[in-house]
Amino acid sequence: MTSSGIALIGVDGDDTLWQNEDYFRDVENEFVRLMTRWSHGDHVAQRLIETERRNLSIFGYGVKGFVLSMIETAIELSSGEIPAADIHKLMAAGKDLLSRPHVVLPGVVDALVSLAEIAPIALVTKGDLMHQETKLAASGLATSFDHVHIVSEKDRSTYTAVLEQHQVSAAEFVMIGNSARSDVLPVIGIGGRAIHVPYSVTWELEKSDDDVEFPVVDDLGAAAELIASW
Ligand SMILES: [Mg+2]
Repeated sequence: MTSSGIALIGVDGDDTLWQNEDYFRDVENEFVRLMTRWSHGDHVAQRLIETERRNLSIFGYGVKGFVLSMIETAIELSSGEIPAADIHKLMAAGKDLLSRPHVVLPGVVDALVSLAEIAPIALVTKGDLMHQETKLAASGLATSFDHVHIVSEKDRSTYTAVLEQHQVSAAEFVMIGNSARSDVLPVIGIGGRAIHVPYSVTWELEKSDDDVEFPVVDDLGAAAELIASW
C-alpha cells in the first residue's frame, strides 16, 4: 500500500484504454441515413437512444443490444415497413462493429506501467463478455492487469462486490475512467476516490449532470501522476 493508502487501482476499458464510442457513432450515423425515408435525423437518433435506454436492463451494454435496439427502432419508425434487406444492413453494421480495429489510446501502455508501481491494477469494464475479452486480448494489455472484472453494470453494488472480493476498503480504492456516471460517481458514492479522464465523444447514456466534484485530467498518464502525488 502507498503512503496515500491506495491498495487497488481500478481502470475502465472502453474509451479509457482503447477507442470505442467513435465506432458506435459511425454506425449510428449510418442508421440515421438509412432511416431518412421515414424520419429526420435528430428524431431518429433520439428514438434510438430512447429504445437503448429502455432495453439496457434487458440486453445490457454492448454491440448486440445496440443492434437489437436499432432494429426495434427501425421497425417502429417505419411502422413495420422497413425492408428485410435494410434489417440485414443493420445486422452487418453490428458485425462490423465487433471486428473494428483495436486501437489502444496514446500513452496508455506507459501509464499502466506507472500505475503498477503504485498498487495492483484491476480492469473494470462492462459490455458484451465475449467482445470485452476479445478487446482485452487484442489490445496486448492483458498482462498489465492484476485482475479483470467484466461486469453487467458499473454501479455502487458492483464496486462494493469487487472491493469485497479483494478485501479492499472503499477508502483504499481509486477508479479511473472516461464516464462520470459509471467510473466516477458510484465509486465516490461508496466512499472511494475516482479520477475522470474524459474522451472526445461521450455516449448519451453515460452523460451525467450530477454536481459532485472530482478530479478531471487529460489522460491516463496524468491520472497516474495525480495518484502518485497523493
Ligand atoms: Mg468507458
